[in-house]
Amino acid sequence: MTSLSDLPLRDDLRGLTPYGAPQLHVPVALNVNENTHSIPEPVARDIVAALAKAVASVNRYPDREFTELRESLAGYLGHGLTRENIWAANGSNEVLQQVLQAFGGPGRSVLGFAPTYSMYSILASGTGTRWIAGDRDADFELGPATAARWVRESTPDLVFLCSPNNPTGTPLSLETIAAVYDATDGIVVVDEAYAEFAPVGAPSALSLLPGRERLLVSRTMSKAFAFAGARVGYLAADPAVTDALRLVRLPYHLSALTQAAACAALAHTAEMLAMVDDIRGQRDRLVTELDRLGYSPYRSGSNFVLFGGVADPNATFEALLAEGILIRDVGIPGHLRVSAGTEAETTSFLDALARLSLAVQ
Ligand SMILES: *Cc1c(COP(=O)(O)O)cnc(C)c1O
Repeated sequence: MTSLSDLPLRDDLRGLTPYGAPQLHVPVALNVNENTHSIPEPVARDIVAALAKAVASVNRYPDREFTELRESLAGYLGHGLTRENIWAANGSNEVLQQVLQAFGGPGRSVLGFAPTYSMYSILASGTGTRWIAGDRDADFELGPATAARWVRESTPDLVFLCSPNNPTGTPLSLETIAAVYDATDGIVVVDEAYAEFAPVGAPSALSLLPGRERLLVSRTMSKAFAFAGARVGYLAADPAVTDALRLVRLPYHLSALTQAAACAALAHTAEMLAMVDDIRGQRDRLVTELDRLGYSPYRSGSNFVLFGGVADPNATFEALLAEGILIRDVGIPGHLRVSAGTEAETTSFLDALARLSLAVQ
């Protein structure tokens, strides 16, 4: 059998490993920050009806401009945005890839602040963009001074800011985003994949868009919207940015079925987001209880919690897995990450961890 090293692979891809969060069938899967609540039955029925209608004309290519979807997304985001400001693709990962295809590439670089979302460096290597890993402040926070200093010293073509940051959960202030924007002539992407889990009234980077034509705010339906399997991500930016993305997208990249499903889901935003309060409650409970068990959880504006003080992360990961509970070893020594599940799932995790912690003492 041929192995990878026998193939004439691009030199800059040699030795790299693909994204690979384990996909295991376990009773309690809290490892990839999905919304563990399934979508409400009446909404599911509406989506199926929309899909049935779309299937009837699936012999034709879909609306290349996904006009109705862009309109729905603009309406959902508010902030005075119109469909001209909106772009969408098959997950925000594809949106970010298109951003790198248009604004990055060979000879260009993208700065991020490690530890951060593991896909950034993978998307950078796929597009031949040099990845620069900047540092954070204490407790994985990122203040304006540190962020702007990294931008000035590394002069990247793009900056990826993850707000709140995955895998640490730490929120990012608008001051930091504005400072980064002012420190560069390049593209600044704020990845707000978890925006809906922020405290009520917390400002979004969307409020910074007016007058900042190099600022891009990406979102996803994968997390709060419980739509990870449908693959729908999007961004808001100046219309010139969406024009740039048209240069690199594949024609008809969003299938008619994806567009129909997403529009149907967005017509039920309130029901789709009904579980967000509940998930926030379980997230806050995780922080409180992990602290009580003697771990060091970080503040989180997302639907997951990173916690330190784990003597042997791999052993704890495996012991939980043996009990049917899957969480994430994100490769930060002494740390593990867990998503907030339903109340019952969160209880299973906390009870199992409490038993393990007792056994170790
Ligand atoms: C989960 C996640 C995404 C979402 O990716 P999709 O491709 O939209 O599913 C994007 N950014 C971050 C930081 C994430 O954690």
